[in-house]
Amino acid sequence: MTCREFVSRLGNYVDGDLAARKRTECVKHATACPDCAAYLQSYQATVRVARKAYEDLEQPSAEPIARVIDRLFRHPLSCQRM
Ligand SMILES: [Zn+2]
Repeated sequence: MTCREFVSRLGNYVDGDLAARKRTECVKHATACPDCAAYLQSYQATVRVARKAYEDLEQPSAEPIARVIDRLFRHPLSCQRM
């Protein structure tokens, strides 16, 4: 798996929407690639903070937030190991 593939699947990975095989590939990549490991950590932290920020809404908009974050993270500047 390349960094680009990892990044493109990150949203699904964090949401638990990936098939077991793809998930395993992501874990392997993140274990071997410090850049993507750091990226994953920061992505998870961002999702956590964003969800917490909106948890008081009557209808939590986790889906749109996840989409916004996903868009932000699809344009990484630091993940160059393709
Ligand atoms: Zn990588």
